[in-house]
This record gives sequence, structure tokens and C-alpha cells, in this order.
Amino acid sequence: MTHAKALRCRECGREYPLDSINVCEFCFGPLEVTYDYDAIAKVISREAIANGPPTLWRYHYLLPCDREMAVDIAAGFTPLIRAQNLGEALGLRYLYIKNDCVNPTWSFKDRVVAVASTKAREFGFDTLACASTGNLANSVAAHAAKASMRAFVFIPADLEQGKVLGSAIYNPTVVAINGNYDDVNRVCSELSDKYPWAFVNINVRPYYAEGSKTLGYEVAEQLGWQAPDHCVVPMASGSLFTKIWKGLSELSQLGMISSVHTKMSGTQALGCSPIVAAWEGGTLNVQPVRPNTIAKSLAIGNPADGYYALRTMADSGGYAASSTDEEIVEGISLLAKSEGIFAETAGGVVIAGLKKLVDQGRIDPDEVVVAFITGGGLKTQEAVAEHVKPPLQIEPSVNAFEEALASRSS
Ligand SMILES: *Cc1c(COP(=O)(O)O)cnc(C)c1O
Ligand SMILES: [Zn+2]
Repeated sequence: MTHAKALRCRECGREYPLDSINVCEFCFGPLEVTYDYDAIAKVISREAIANGPPTLWRYHYLLPCDREMAVDIAAGFTPLIRAQNLGEALGLRYLYIKNDCVNPTWSFKDRVVAVASTKAREFGFDTLACASTGNLANSVAAHAAKASMRAFVFIPADLEQGKVLGSAIYNPTVVAINGNYDDVNRVCSELSDKYPWAFVNINVRPYYAEGSKTLGYEVAEQLGWQAPDHCVVPMASGSLFTKIWKGLSELSQLGMISSVHTKMSGTQALGCSPIVAAWEGGTLNVQPVRPNTIAKSLAIGNPADGYYALRTMADSGGYAASSTDEEIVEGISLLAKSEGIFAETAGGVVIAGLKKLVDQGRIDPDEVVVAFITGGGLKTQEAVAEHVKPPLQIEPSVNAFEEALASRSS
């Protein structure tokens, strides 16, 4: 049972039945799920949600699929942590970290795939597929395993080992393409016309995208049913960024929280920052780039939702920031040292961007700020391997330990 009503074109407003399609036949605009909010308002409540499972399925009222059919590996409802140490280091009194590293496949992509794979199964697909920068492939492979579906995951050939292995272990067919993500995506778009497979971020993308709304719901619930003042979010295609805002807005529309004044700020790596560049140039026109950054999970040179991300940024009064690879590594290190959270490169992008926005005076010290840390660091060890101290290697004696310690501190 779902309260989703239809798919609607974000450009011309034409409506389509809930099917495995993602673009408007008339204007090629992207399709988005619409809901019967009056019906939802009758059944949703803070109490009903609190009595739900400790996963994103507690928000099933606002998802476009049947909870009874859920492909459930317990994605979501991750911790929101009061980051006092990092807040002090940056000059923020009310900083929170939304730690999505601790999802089942160690990234926020479990949210989008939980919804997309459930919908794919509802549609009767027996094969899941995706074009991925790494994390999506991990999650698609895991959910396909749980759902006993076949999986084909397509990735750029130069991904980190942790992400290649992190897919392969679930036994999908991993296809490493000699090219960047935009090449991978082009091949997958052609394949999705030819094969009857559910490409989670192509033909079932409208449902996939809805999974990201749950980050907005959770943060509001975890703050005691209120929206934060400021969200700092990593952007690849820009979809996640827009959907956190949609999630908060829906809660407000349903009367679950008061009006949303949240500023949405987006961050990218300088080596792949088409959305930030457009924001800085004061245009809604995103110019594609060729990615060159250690933040491979965000390396989409031609972001599908870039335009909508810029609109969300403008409508919410948010900002944009990009960071060099060196700043990204410093961001990972700062988060680890101050809060005990080991993030992947996308997390470094967020912390580096957050620092920049504070330094530029874009974020007030008294704002309630949530930084979204969307993936775990064990997947991108290459990025920081040269930047950590090697172990003290010693013979098994107290003496050896004390000598080694003395020589390191000297
Ligand atoms: C995919 C991804 C994002 C952002 O994805 P969008 O395409 O912008 O929705 C952010 N962080 C990580 C770690 C990701 O894997
Ligand atoms: Zn249209």
C-alpha cells in the first residue's frame, strides 16, 4: 500500500501512471513521484513513526512503494550526533553530524536502493542494475542478493579497491568501463533501452530519488521534530541535495514540523564542481566538466539534477563551496580526530566545505547545522593512506615500546 499517486514531469507538469519510466515523452523533463497528502495526513503521526522499525521503513507513509514488499537490509535511521569537538574547532555552537557511514553497505546509497529495489520487485523485474561511481554499485549488489535478483553493476575502471570488492562480494556481475562516470552512464542508458532490467538510477530513478527524502525526515525527528537552520550536503548528480529539502518540506506541509527555514548549502570537490561553478557564476546553467578528483563518489561531470539543486539552493537561501583534494584529506582527518568518525572522501568534501562556509561568514555560529556524512572511510583508504602515521613497529618488550615512543616524540 502506497500513497504515491502518479509520476509528474518537473518541466511541463504532464502526469504518467506509476511505471518504470523516468523522462517525459513530450519535453524530456525528469519525472517525479506525487502523493495524496490528504490521505497521508490521515494515517501519519509522530507516534506512529516512533512505533515503526529503526530503519527508513518507519517513514513508509511517504515512500512510493509497498512496505510489505520491502527489500529490507535495515537501511537508514542512522545516528545524528552532536559534534561538540568539531563545532568548537570550526566555531559553531550547535553542529550535528548525520552519520550515514553506518548504513548496511556503508553509504547513504542504501536509502535510494532500498526504495528502488522494492519498486523494481513490485514491477516484476528479476534483474537490478546501475551506473555507479562506486557506492551505488555496492548497495545494488547487496539489495539484489537479499531480494534473490540478478545484478549488473557498471562502474568506471579506476575506482578504489574497497568499492570494487565492496560490490564483488555480493556476487553481481561487475562491469568496469574504461572511462569516467558520464561514459558509464551513457552506456547504461543505451543498455536500459535494450534489456528488461531495472537500472535503479535510470528507468526507476523517480523512485530511487525518493529514498533520499528519508534523510530529511530522520534529521527532523532526531532534532525533536524540527528542521535544522542549515544543511551542508555533498552533491554528485544533485539529487540527494534536492530531496533532503523535499523531505523537510513534506513534513512541514503535513504539519509534523513548523515552517521550514532551512538553508541548503551544497559542496563538491574542486576537481568536479560543475554545480558550485554555476552557483558562483550566478547561472542555473550547469556546464559539464571532466572530473579529476579523489572524491570519486561525487565525480559526475554532467549532473542530472544540477539545475534543480541550484534552484533549491536559491529558494532556501543556501550557498555552495568546493574544496581541493588536499582540503578534502584535511577534512577527513579533522572529522576523525575530533569526532571519531572515519568518512570517505565525500565526507571530507562536506567538512572542508563547511569550514569554508563558516570562514566566509555564510553560516552563523548560533545556527543549528547538520553536516551530512554520506559514506564510510574504509572504502577510500587510498585517499588517506599516505597521511596517517605508520604503526610503531617493535619487538615484544616494554623496553622496545618505550624506546620507540621516545624516538617518535623526539
Ligand atoms: C552518490 C553519493 C552522494 C550524492 O549523490 P547525488 O547523485 O548527488 O544524489 C553523496 N555522497 C556519497 C558518498 C555518494 O556515494
Ligand atoms: Zn514534460
